[in-house]
Amino acid sequence: MNKAIFLDRDGTINQLKKWQKYVCNTEDVKLNKNVKETLKQLKDLWYKIIVITNQTWVWVWYYTQEQAEKVNQEIEKQLWFSFDAIYSCYHHPDENCNCRKPKIENIQKATDEFNIDVNQSYFVWDKEKDIQTGKNAWCKWNVLIWNVNVENYKVKPDFIVKDFKEILDFIK
Ligand SMILES: [Mg+2]
Ligand SMILES: [Zn+2]
Repeated sequence: MNKAIFLDRDGTINQLKKWQKYVCNTEDVKLNKNVKETLKQLKDLWYKIIVITNQTWVWVWYYTQEQAEKVNQEIEKQLWFSFDAIYSCYHHPDENCNCRKPKIENIQKATDEFNIDVNQSYFVWDKEKDIQTGKNAWCKWNVLIWNVNVENYKVKPDFIVKDFKEILDFIK
């Protein structure tokens, strides 16, 4: 079986300004510190690198699925490699789909398609809701980045890191 790093996109891989919920334009794509170097090393350790993202804004008329995909391409361009896969939910919350985090249909799709053992995989997020996603998927290791205060979190991450490259300290 394969092992994977599951990642959120906006705020985890690429920077998200305080006032932004999503990144909608390629000009706004800026990778977070040490993401490129760290993911490259994880690739060399044979981890599949898979993005799980909610892109709810596509139901707003000025943001299209094509734009969301262009942002994905820009991220990959800046990383100098392609993700093994990107699974996006483009639904409105009211549609009650099964692929919108914290639901886990997209994670199940990924584990089926790539024959992934979640018990050997890591989930890297920047929000409490995503920690819940990892728990729902029975993942072993939920990692929260950017050292936020989790005192009020109902679900707690297994690790908190303040720099992306610290992920390498407990993987390997
Ligand atoms: Mg995020
Ligand atoms: Zn969905």
